Amino acid sequence: MQKFNSIGIMGGTFDPVHYGHLIAAEFARHEFKLDRVIFMPAARPPHKEINEVLNSEHRYKMVKLAIQANPFFKISDLEMKRTGKSYTIDTIRYYLEYYRGSDIFFIMGADSLLMMDTWKDYQELSGLCRFVVVTRPGYVIERSDPALKNLPPILWERMEFLPIPGLDISSTDIRHRVAENRSIKYLLPLEVEQYILDQGLYR
Ligand code: ATP
Ligand code: MG
Repeated sequence: MQKFNSIGIMGGTFDPVHYGHLIAAEFARHEFKLDRVIFMPAARPPHKEINEVLNSEHRYKMVKLAIQANPFFKISDLEMKRTGKSYTIDTIRYYLEYYRGSDIFFIMGADSLLMMDTWKDYQELSGLCRFVVVTRPGYVIERSDPALKNLPPILWERMEFLPIPGLDISSTDIRHRVAENRSIKYLLPLEVEQYILDQGLYR
């Protein structure tokens, strides 16, 4: 297998994928010289009820369409295929083994960091890989924030903060817009917009 120095993992529900995700992944890739960024649609996000989340096949196809123009971006169905819930720690363990000797960077937005102490085995996870936390409008990271008090010191050592151009875009808002028959153009790639309309998603 080809040897990589560093790999980014971009986890999410991607229901649907949008430019916030793409810019986070691309700026992290460039800043940390990642050889590739793997988009990993979650099967059953532990924090979301399954019936609220679109069938993973659709989410997978939309990510595929969204990343096709970027040769550094890949997609994996690892979490989708896993039965039961998807946990970041299991995914990171898998990739540490698969890309043995490479640095693994888990990419996430500021809102995710504020939730991290609810993740499975987050203390152990903190020591397993590196983390890139990108800015997201509406979420401020301050070390004194009570939401961060449980996160272990090793995480702070292994975490990089990356300011990115703020895009106040969320999948939740896109779903609501489609349901209300409002425009979603320029919030996500044209191919994804077309897919949503063609398949009648989120109506
Ligand atoms: P939802 O509204 O359904 O929660 P979302 O827009 O937050 O969707 P997710 O799939 O939950 O998208 O997010 C995947 C990852 O991308 C998370 O780490 C999240 O913090 C990050 N992210 C999502 N949108 C943005 C954005 N606009 N700017 C920066 N990071 C983002
Ligand atoms: Mg989210």
